[in-house]
Amino acid sequence: MSWTNLAWNGRILVVDDAMENIQILHHALRDEHEVLFALDGARALEMAYSQKPDLILLDAVMPGMDGYQVCAALRANPALQDIPVIFVTALTQPEDETRALEAGAVDFISKPFNVAVVRARVRSQLTIKRQADAMRELSRTDSLTGVANRRSFNHTMEAEWRRCARAGLPLSVIMIDIDHFKLYNDHYGHQAGDLCLQQVGAAMSACAARPQDMLARYGGEEFVLLLPQEAAGGAAVVAQRVLDTIRRLKIPHAGSPTSPYVTASLGVHTMLPPFENSDSDALIRQADQQMYRAKQSGRDRVCVAALG
Ligand code: GH3
Ligand code: MG
Ligand code: MG
Repeated sequence: MSWTNLAWNGRILVVDDAMENIQILHHALRDEHEVLFALDGARALEMAYSQKPDLILLDAVMPGMDGYQVCAALRANPALQDIPVIFVTALTQPEDETRALEAGAVDFISKPFNVAVVRARVRSQLTIKRQADAMRELSRTDSLTGVANRRSFNHTMEAEWRRCARAGLPLSVIMIDIDHFKLYNDHYGHQAGDLCLQQVGAAMSACAARPQDMLARYGGEEFVLLLPQEAAGGAAVVAQRVLDTIRRLKIPHAGSPTSPYVTASLGVHTMLPPFENSDSDALIRQADQQMYRAKQSGRDRVCVAALG
């Protein structure tokens, strides 16, 4: 593989009930891409889920689940809906093409195919996919700290609220506010303040290690940790870990009346199932109230709501 291929290199899932077609496509693409294959629709969905391909080449006509059904199932699944699908099929009527595009395909290639055309279309769809992924990532990230931004947090919060409500699981929130940060800026300057936010953000990212946990910048010098499936005890442990992690950074804060180093105040609240008569705003509000209680009682500490 030469360096020029690196830009195209992707993981392609080829779905076709005829092994012969898979072999032709594999041959056409293997120099530039990693090629996986599935012989039916159900297996294609399993592979899409477990292998996360960058692109799917999908045969329209297959026994059992056909290509249109596979495409619809991909589009309906939030974890799979961003994988582009190119239909590859012997059907050549304009209505077949329209149907494929309406099912959510990004392109359409007719059999018998021209290998150079297949390669070129795969390349161009991969380029578009990469650009879309990069844009999506940017739109979800806080540019200063690199952690998730507020918009992304709101989105995940709504999804996790529904998921935990449905599954009867607890959902915890930790609000984290850096202490006397205005004085930090006053003393060290705004640029040093930015650097401090970056350091604190990076250190906190390591505190919530489970895949479903999310750290986000809530605004200014305030961060939030969303801990799905975490009951009050576990959330308090994570909050204490965050507090200790920030203390251990030992970032000098000469202007702070609380400590010679940068500290934070944390508020924890857990919503226990069932979630009836409540909403995600109330959960955040209650964690926020605990954070204010931490401020009022001396800062550099964790306050947890007493569960009644
Ligand atoms: P408290 O302990 O009560 O939280 O006091 P505080 O000074 O941290 O709280 P306050 O809300 O009064 O001030 C927050 C400060 O955070 C003011 C603002 O200039 C600063 N800040 C917010 N966003 C940024 C940022 O992106 N960079 C920098 N350097 N400072 C920021
Ligand atoms: Mg503050
Ligand atoms: Mg604040």
